[in-house]
Amino acid sequence: MTTSPYRPDLLKGQHILITGGGTGLGSAIATRFASLGAAITICGRRRSPLEDTVAALRAKGSRAEGIPCDIQHREKVDEMIAEAESRQGSLTGLVNNAAGNFLSLSEQLDPRGFEAVMSINVSGTFHCTQACAQLWIQRKEPGSVLSIVTTYIETGSAFVMPSAASKAAIAAMMRSLAVEWGPYGIRLNAIAPGPIPTKGAWERLIPDKSFEEKLRDSVPIGRFATREELGNLAVYLMSDSAASMTGQVIELDGGARLAGHGAFNGLMQLPREKLAKHFDSLRPPRQRRPPKAR
Ligand code: NAP
Repeated sequence: MTTSPYRPDLLKGQHILITGGGTGLGSAIATRFASLGAAITICGRRRSPLEDTVAALRAKGSRAEGIPCDIQHREKVDEMIAEAESRQGSLTGLVNNAAGNFLSLSEQLDPRGFEAVMSINVSGTFHCTQACAQLWIQRKEPGSVLSIVTTYIETGSAFVMPSAASKAAIAAMMRSLAVEWGPYGIRLNAIAPGPIPTKGAWERLIPDKSFEEKLRDSVPIGRFATREELGNLAVYLMSDSAASMTGQVIELDGGARLAGHGAFNGLMQLPREKLAKHFDSLRPPRQRRPPKAR
């Protein structure tokens, strides 16, 4: 782990709710926030990942609570938030990280599968975001919301259409509310990660080792982004350092999405030496580099 770019007490006094915080990226974000002094509440449907993550955070001296909750149901979200605040005081931030996703041929997709992903991702995110914002507006307190989306929100993606449609909707939700709730001091941003290894994502979405290697090879920096890098970006967006940043979607993917576009990006696959010679041969003779420089 590289040296922390942040003061160790940067998030002291904050109480942040992280949905899906018992596993994967949610747990990594919770751990990073807690390491900088925030009190953490995590939620998810299953009790045991919540208990494991809370135990790990408390073992490091952090304040952490886990509350089982299915965010698809608004009344359950309201109950969970009331419980979170009764245990650790008013919430100051929310991370919408919980999501569902699976690979499927869309022509064979069971409509119930489509509805489940839309319900968890779009309705769940709306429930948590609106419930927190209502409290902040009523109390005249500021608040910060961060949603975890994905790099394919702009392009869509084959075989994960419900995820693509729902994450694009979440980005639109954040951008809309950034304007509507700006006057209340509520900021909403999103991070769009490329692939970052987690048990959940890899089991459901990465069919085998060769696909993983292909994915990694498509990242210009030659590796996937890390959980630590995601945690650090999440800290910045939640902190007062980003007080004027709102309605933004920030990609964290080592340049992978951009590499998939750009008419000439395919040439990246060829050795640089070969490219240099080829480009040279296309120039008029007087503009070519001297043989020594080639
Ligand atoms: P993960 O470990 O499977 O995380 C998903 C979490 O969401 C789980 O903790 C799950 O807990 C929770 N969840 C699902 N449905 C829920 C519901 N109805 N109510 C409450 N909680 C629910 O996968 P991950 O890779 O860490 O993904 C985390 C986020 O990052 C997701 O939004 C994903 O789309 C995004 N993302 C991940 C990657 C990647 O490569 N890892 C890339 C781009 C974006 P329960 O099952 O116990 O409810």
